[in-house]
Amino acid sequence: MASHISVVVSQGHSHNPAKRRLEEEIVACLLTEPAVEVNVMPHLYDLKADGSAMLCLQGISRDLIVLAWLYPRATRWILNRNGIGGQEGISLLKENEDAEDDSDANSPEDSSNPEQDAELSPARVIESLEIPNRKIYCLNLAAATDADTFIREIQRIAHETKVKTVETIGWLNGTPKAEHVQRMAQPLPGNVDHAIPVVSKPSERVGSPIEEKTERRWYPVIDMSRCTNCMECIDFCLFGVYGVDQQDTILVEQPDNCRKGCPACSRVCPENAIIFPTHKSPAIAGSADVAASLKIDLSKLFGAPEDDGVDVAVRERDEQLLLAGRDVVGDSVGIARNQIATPTAEPDDLDRLIDQLDALDL
Ligand code: SF4
Ligand code: SF4
Repeated sequence: MASHISVVVSQGHSHNPAKRRLEEEIVACLLTEPAVEVNVMPHLYDLKADGSAMLCLQGISRDLIVLAWLYPRATRWILNRNGIGGQEGISLLKENEDAEDDSDANSPEDSSNPEQDAELSPARVIESLEIPNRKIYCLNLAAATDADTFIREIQRIAHETKVKTVETIGWLNGTPKAEHVQRMAQPLPGNVDHAIPVVSKPSERVGSPIEEKTERRWYPVIDMSRCTNCMECIDFCLFGVYGVDQQDTILVEQPDNCRKGCPACSRVCPENAIIFPTHKSPAIAGSADVAASLKIDLSKLFGAPEDDGVDVAVRERDEQLLLAGRDVVGDSVGIARNQIATPTAEPDDLDRLIDQLDALDL
């Protein structure tokens, strides 16, 4: 029987020997895993849409695990923009070893009435996407420093997906058998080799890197599970990066028109849907933790203008316009009026309280 899950290791930019060694150890271990097919390729974000590595990825139709030096959210939506889709596989690895476990923290998305929130929430682009019925698991190589952690997680996922495949075949052939039901109820073993032996042909278990000459790239990636197709990014960007498809859905049409190092439009997206995967700030690079909590903004709670991020974006865009030899535009172009702070005509209670505190001259 052939291997049933593909694993792709996307190499990082860094020359840090510890990082290179981690990649190599993971690949070496995976080559002894009978259940998986392994491919190694250059950094996912840098791949050209028509390059050999992306074509290889596009040719994989089974369940897929991608290990990259990127937040999983960034990996998922880079794949999506290249036509590589699937249901989101849930990994048990933390996003990043430095990330704090904030599962108990209050998120602005926590709600006492989630049903009401769902009704009020605008439609997301993901709801109109056709998502293939297979799973894609995105693992951040920064989530651990040892290969064993990744191998165990890959084994767990391989087992999870294999059990589901076996059970589905069983069910398709008739009613579920008692042994299927019993096996699904069992805890996952640490090593799946012996639980469900799967032997792949040597030719399917490639370990050498896919050759493709790449250069560092810089462009926005849209998280379609957050995007509402509001078009604020297309109005804001003056470099022709964004466009729309035949269904009038936003897309990153000319990614390489984006100005290197500038993340301006990510600051004006009202849904925090725009990711620059290699930006140093986790909020912009696609950390799911930060994306969920970005709306906690103390300055807004205390009545400060709501356009702090927009101010920065306007300044960053003006800098890029100047560097490109063009005239600056400030906030006169492409900013939704509701993003520009205007003085409230009538002071509210909070304004009056702040005025009173100011008057105390503490
Ligand atoms: S601004 Fe954000 S939410 Fe609006 S279309 Fe662009 S990516 Fe989507
Ligand atoms: S960062 Fe600047 S140039 Fe790049 S897409 Fe956003 S607005 Fe356009």
